This record gives sequence, structure tokens and C-alpha cells, in this order.
Amino acid sequence: MNWQNAIITRIETLSPRVKSFFFRRPEPFSFRPGQHVLLRLTAPDGYRAQRSYSIASAPGLGTAEELELAIERFDDGEVSPFMHDVAQVEDEIEIGGPIGGHFNWSPEDGGPVLFIGGGSGVAPFMSMLRHRAAIVSQVPVVLVFSARLREDLLFFDELSKLAASGDGFSLMVALTREAGAHPFRAGRIDTEFIAGIVGAMKMPVRQVMICGSHPFVETAAEGTIAAGIDPAIIKTERYGATDVQAEVRRLAGALKR
Ligand SMILES: Cc1cc2nc3c(=O)[nH]c(=O)nc-3n(C[C@H](O)[C@H](O)[C@H](O)COP(=O)(O)OP(=O)(O)OC[C@H]3O[C@@H](n4cnc5c(N)ncnc54)[C@H](O)[C@@H]3O)c2cc1C
Repeated sequence: MNWQNAIITRIETLSPRVKSFFFRRPEPFSFRPGQHVLLRLTAPDGYRAQRSYSIASAPGLGTAEELELAIERFDDGEVSPFMHDVAQVEDEIEIGGPIGGHFNWSPEDGGPVLFIGGGSGVAPFMSMLRHRAAIVSQVPVVLVFSARLREDLLFFDELSKLAASGDGFSLMVALTREAGAHPFRAGRIDTEFIAGIVGAMKMPVRQVMICGSHPFVETAAEGTIAAGIDPAIIKTERYGATDVQAEVRRLAGALKR
């Protein structure tokens, strides 16, 4: 693993629970849209914690200067609360990578493609869509973005502008916990919703990519398969603990009490 101390240059609030952190790296590296990096924190007593974060920025044409990571805060977490509450501009943070050769897509891989992102799981799709826009590609892409509330729709203005440009990119939004007056789907993504989107795509979908928490990816993948998509063309990226890991944490917490 290639580690280096990156410097935080900017911090932007994207939603009540997500902030974007921009890093300058002494040794810039090239990456594929969809790859992630590791953030490694070391306490004064030597205790270390590291977590994966998808790169949200586009790779640029060479070795991109600035790296953007969109980090969601989990109150009971180790790394994300530190980033949200303690990390500041000019701080040095250890970054390792880039990693991940599976969950990648570039316009040269072809389309049409269907991206399905839940919450901060939209991050790798931002890298892919920003890269697609930067190289003026017209490969058809649909992004289905599921969030809890309107305020949780990360990058919404940028995504709306991309969708309005008429270059073959469409955005579909589902809000799971906001039923009021809004132009989006109210409720979770289900088979019927995915089948409708796939049916409206002019050519057969070539690739489906799903990213988000474990339960979100599970549900979206099941819905996609039930909508008639061949599982062989579905790629997934799962954030957070598996059910087993979550259960171990819960039991450890109960034992402490
Ligand atoms: C390849 C990959 C890319 C990732 N990219 C991103 C990214 O771009 N942005 C981002 O915010 N996170 C991303 N994650 C998740 C990230 O690595 C951490 O899991 C997350 O930041 C929580 O770390 P923590 O130390 O704060 O919490 P932890 O101490 O690891 O966990 C705290 C609690 O939160 C739960 N939890 C953690 N993450 C999630 C989640 N996503 N959904 C639901 N429950 C969760 C855990 O089960 C646990 O109960 C990615 C994960 C992977 C594997």
C-alpha cells in the first residue's frame, strides 16, 4: 500500500450528516472513477483506525491534484466523527491507495449504464459522472439516487445541471422519508420502479452498479434482478459493517453494559 500524508485544503458541508473533504497530496496519483482510498488515523498511544472512502472527484486527465471524499457522520463511529468534529483545514491525514479494481466505470467501458446510489453511496458515481462530463461523453447513464430527505440529496444542484445538459444523463430521485410536495418518488426503490426505468432505457442496459449501505445494496440488487436484469451485469459496493460485524459490535456493547 502506498501511504502519504495528505493536507486538508477545504471542508464543505453537503448535508446535515455529510461533509466533503478536499485533500492535496504531496504525491498525486492517477485513479479510475469508482476507486477508493483508505484514511488512517493514529492516536498518540499508537492506536490506529482506518476506513475506506470512495473518491468523489474526477480523475482529471493526469494525476488529479485535489481529491474529494464525501464522508457521512455516524455518531457511534470512530473515523467519521473525528473527521466531522476534529479535523480542520491544514491538518495532515494519512491516505493510502488508490484501491479497487472492480467497482469502476469510465465512458470507454460503454453503456447504457444504470447507477443506483443510496445516501453517501452516490460518491463513486460523482467521480464517474464528473469524468464523463469532463471528456464530453454522451454514453447513456441513468442515476437513481435514494436519500432519506430532500436535505440529504448530496450534490443535487450539480447533478441537476448535468441532467439538464441533454447529453444522455438522467437523474431519478427517491426520497424514503419525505412524502410531502416534491417532484420525486416517495418511498423506497422497488422492483416496479427499477423495471420502469430499465424499460424506458432505449437500448438494453449493459451494466448496473449499486452502491450504499449493506441493506440498501441488498434491496436494490434484489429489485434489479426481479426487474429482469441479468445478475452477471450487476456490480455492487457495500459501505459499513456487515450484519455479522454489526451484531458482534452490538453484543460487545451489551457485554460492556
Ligand atoms: C469501498 C468502500 C468505500 C466507502 N466509501 C465511503 C464514502 O465515500 N463515504 C462514506 O461516508 N462512507 C464510505 N464508506 C464507509 C466507511 O468506510 C466507514 O464504514 C464509515 O465512515 C463509518 O466509519 P466509522 O469509523 O465512523 O464508524 P464505525 O466505527 O466503523 O461504525 C459505527 C457504526 O456505524 C455503522 N455504519 C458504518 N457505516 C455505515 C453505513 N454506510 N451505513 C449504515 N451504517 C453504517 C456500523 O455498523 C456501526 O454500527 C466506504 C466503505 C467501503 C467499504
